Amino acid sequence: MPAASEPAPQAEPAPQPAPEILAAFEKAKGFMPTDEGLALYAAATRAARLGLPLLEVGTYCGRSTILLADAARRAGVTALTVDHHRGSEEQQPGWDYHDPETVDPETGLMDTLPAFRRTLHRAGLEEHVVALVGRSPQIAALWSSPLGLVFIDGGHTDEHAGADYAGWAPHVAEGGLLVIHDVFPDPADEFTGQAPYRVYLRALESGDFAEIAATSSLRVLQRTSAPAAAHR
Ligand code: SAH
Ligand code: MG
Repeated sequence: MPAASEPAPQAEPAPQPAPEILAAFEKAKGFMPTDEGLALYAAATRAARLGLPLLEVGTYCGRSTILLADAARRAGVTALTVDHHRGSEEQQPGWDYHDPETVDPETGLMDTLPAFRRTLHRAGLEEHVVALVGRSPQIAALWSSPLGLVFIDGGHTDEHAGADYAGWAPHVAEGGLLVIHDVFPDPADEFTGQAPYRVYLRALESGDFAEIAATSSLRVLQRTSAPAAAHR
């Protein structure tokens, strides 16, 4: 019998980003703490072994994209990232998460695309990423190929988070991962609403996904069924 102090047999150690990638992530403007970033990187590395693209909804200035891009680069796949680059509700002028540097002085609207491009360029990861600029449901409606990972980190209203789930989860390949950010089961903890938590519950209740990891508000679910979406 093993001694009580003996650690449980370990699965493989979590894949870690190289120090320069982690430094680029930590320097980038955005909304992801390091512990969740490391969990996202580990999930992306595992999912990338399926040999399929990794897709993010919610690029903002490219902070989390760096991690998906590096995991994709190492596996020889592509990271895709979706955003209209006009910001979520809570990022608009006058709201808590507004950053005046993201406003385009000519249009007076938020435009995070230039900052995103600088972030990826600085990190040396441009060629591993395809940016899809537009509204998530509009792009999802045109999509017809399987994905190794879908990371939902876009709008936080039920309308937006729900549409991200409905539009993209059907494209996660069997064995692929659905990662959801900003899941706050306790309303006392949330800052921008519980829509991502409701999406997480919906994914579990569908019977198509099982939770495999949780780090702060980041949840990693794996598809246990064949996707219903018709893929080319
Ligand atoms: N992943 C980023 C944070 C994303 S913030 C990081 O690591 O920092 C959420 C982003 O989702 C915003 O940039 C906003 O423009 C985008 N967004 C919100 N609703 C959207 C929609 N319906 N379609 C496309 N992008 C959307
Ligand atoms: Mg988020």
